[in-house]
Amino acid sequence: MNDNPSPTAGTVYLVGAGPGDPSLITVAAVRALAQADVIVFDALANAELLSYARADVELIDAGKRAKQHKLTQDETNALLAEHALAGRTVVRLKGGDPYVFGRGSEEAMYLHSRGVRAVVIPGITAAMAGPAYAGIPVTHRNVATTVTFITGHENPTKGELQTDYRGLSLLAQRGGTLCFYMGMGRLSGIVDELHRHGLPLDTPAAVVQWGTLPRQRSVRAAMSDLQDAVERAGLGAPAIIVIGPVAAVDKEGALRWFEDRPLFGQRVVITRTRHQASTLKEELEMLGAEVLEAPTIEIQPTTEMGPIDAAIRNVKQYDWLILTSANGVTALRERMALLKLDARHLAGVKIAAVGDTTVAALEQIGIGADLVPTRYVAESLASDLLERESMQGKRVLMLRADIARPLLREKLEQAGATVADLPIYETRQPTGLPANVVEALESDAVDWVTFTSSSTVRNFVELLGEKRDLLAKTKLASIGPITSQTIRDLGLEPTLEAEEHNVQGLVAALRA
Ligand code: SAH
Repeated sequence: MNDNPSPTAGTVYLVGAGPGDPSLITVAAVRALAQADVIVFDALANAELLSYARADVELIDAGKRAKQHKLTQDETNALLAEHALAGRTVVRLKGGDPYVFGRGSEEAMYLHSRGVRAVVIPGITAAMAGPAYAGIPVTHRNVATTVTFITGHENPTKGELQTDYRGLSLLAQRGGTLCFYMGMGRLSGIVDELHRHGLPLDTPAAVVQWGTLPRQRSVRAAMSDLQDAVERAGLGAPAIIVIGPVAAVDKEGALRWFEDRPLFGQRVVITRTRHQASTLKEELEMLGAEVLEAPTIEIQPTTEMGPIDAAIRNVKQYDWLILTSANGVTALRERMALLKLDARHLAGVKIAAVGDTTVAALEQIGIGADLVPTRYVAESLASDLLERESMQGKRVLMLRADIARPLLREKLEQAGATVADLPIYETRQPTGLPANVVEALESDAVDWVTFTSSSTVRNFVELLGEKRDLLAKTKLASIGPITSQTIRDLGLEPTLEAEEHNVQGLVAALRA
């Protein structure tokens, strides 16, 4: 029992996680997630939402996708009550909306009977968002004046039906929209039953699978052809079946903003470090790609920090400070913070930065670079520096990764500079690739693998081990000539090479 309970202690929040796209979560849901001591989540709730939770939260997977039941409903109910009665703040995270075919009300009533306070936070339900992301409005003036949410879970060909197919058929005959949840296993039964009650077989219809997610797929067809269309396209659960004229109201594709994005339907594996991956991931996702992350490098501060601390303290002795990566900037910032130094300490030292992300990382801590080489490779920094001023007798401090190429330093030394070349962070190889990446490669479900440096190529191939041949079956995108050469050295061929050797350049090349 908590000695000093928070205002939310002992409460269960029944939280709608939204339909899939994690950005469709509500502000109230994010607040509840950030408060929670315990989160009990469903398979259909996007796991990315757990990033809003506290680091010390207890996560319980109650996922119960067909057949492979993990927790029964009674077990889930009891579990929620137990945690709440022990004084914890509990979030019950459910796909879509908790009260739309989600048993949220049963859970709330059970909790009430145990004396536990339950609060509901609605979510965007699948039948609203899935069709919307597939270009289908669930109502449309003069076309559909009603929309009905139906569970397709009931077997329409067996026994007494709770679902009123005659009523549904009448609504749809007048233009109303029918949205079936959990109906994919009974699609032809649903169509037959509606038709038997008078709904014409040429009524427009659609199916949206994995709505709002990068892997969304949808088909449209007349009701009579829907089953065939679904089979041809290989669609299955989880999906919403939409029946009614709204499914064909958008003749011009005016509402298809989501599926029309340039990389929609493309699955892209990105190989940057976890730390760096987010901008590439975000940009590709914005263009519609499904992104799988395969971290090939883990980054940690250098174990031997003595010489680096000394160099940072005495940074004013140097004419130039060279930073070759955003990770270097992060490591420098962390080290300076430990030494109780801030950006003012670097005043008067000229700073050269290689690459856009390095410059951006510097800007984030309020530091502008005095020199950014025209090309994004370390070698061009040497020539740009020399063009700007004589390096004779100059003192240069280079803070870089442990695996940097020595060329830059050699060139500067040839030009008469003294170079303190210190590794500020170490790169480690993780022990393996994530299972979802290997599975996707094995099932030929990857369109692109992106490489942002030679080391990501080498590490990725090494992590694949005996399965390295899988890479020959997919397209490879390289950030620049050096990375491309490494790909060739390993007996593979880059499908494309970015013209601008940075993340934006890579994204632009993929888009083209
Ligand atoms: N409470 C949820 C529904 C749970 S029932 C909500 O409000 O959305 C589970 C059914 O929801 C699935 O069988 C499927 O029909 C539908 N569903 C959930 N997520 C979906 C998605 N991203 N795309 C299409 N259908 C989805």
